[in-house]
Amino acid sequence: MNEAPVLRASQIYKSYQKDSIEVPVLRGVDLEVPPGQITAMVGRSGSGKSTLMHLLATLDRPDSGEVHFNGRRIDNASRAERDAYRNRDIGVIFQFYHLLPELSAVENVLAPLMIGRSTWSYFRHRREARRHAEAMLDRVGLLHRASHKPRELSGGEMQRTAIARSLMTEPSLLLADEPTGNLDAQTGSEILTLLRGLNRDDGLTIVMITHDDAIAAGADNLQRMANGMVQDDRGRSAA
Ligand code: ADP
Ligand code: MG
Repeated sequence: MNEAPVLRASQIYKSYQKDSIEVPVLRGVDLEVPPGQITAMVGRSGSGKSTLMHLLATLDRPDSGEVHFNGRRIDNASRAERDAYRNRDIGVIFQFYHLLPELSAVENVLAPLMIGRSTWSYFRHRREARRHAEAMLDRVGLLHRASHKPRELSGGEMQRTAIARSLMTEPSLLLADEPTGNLDAQTGSEILTLLRGLNRDDGLTIVMITHDDAIAAGADNLQRMANGMVQDDRGRSAA
């Protein structure tokens, strides 16, 4: 029953320096992400959710504490190992999509492969890569928008494009920072339905930060951030 966690953070501390004053944000975070589930993280604005997400994605390092991915320590891994983790093992999506405005939807989806491979390798495999990108756009229901630029897409379509991009390298774990935070309730619930489909059909493990109680209620388990720590809400919702 108790499968080993995909991601485990233990005793994470992180402070920011503000005008030579140290501002503690994470004060002993413990978190276990079970495989094959959608884990929602909730908490007030400023409670450190994005800070924690950055540490889990190895975009930043904790002051102390450890992060393990499938049992392997990643927070202090070499730059090459962290690059490989980000380019191969995880996908990341954000509230504001972070699409490149000059590229079409399909080119945005292709971008990780252009970065992850040598130019030579990319051009050698570009037809295959493009077919894969189109398959990912199809997977998120957006193939008919492949040649559209981000400004020609709705918010929901931009997030679908970002999800397709995150799937390009076939990650086993998706980290999502407020993926529905800029969308109306109906569109947000469609994005959740899409994420649930990826979880169910492909076994994708998802960690999703959200402000939205309705979105959080659709997750398999709920973690709440407060006072620089994570509380497990499973017991509470059952009580
Ligand atoms: P959340 O995502 O839960 O809203 P954040 O992790 O973005 O919270 O921020 C937590 C706290 O850390 C906030 O008080 C914020 O102002 C501060 N903070 C975040 N990033 C930085 C930074 N790069 N430099 C200084 N302070 C930061
Ligand atoms: Mg945030």
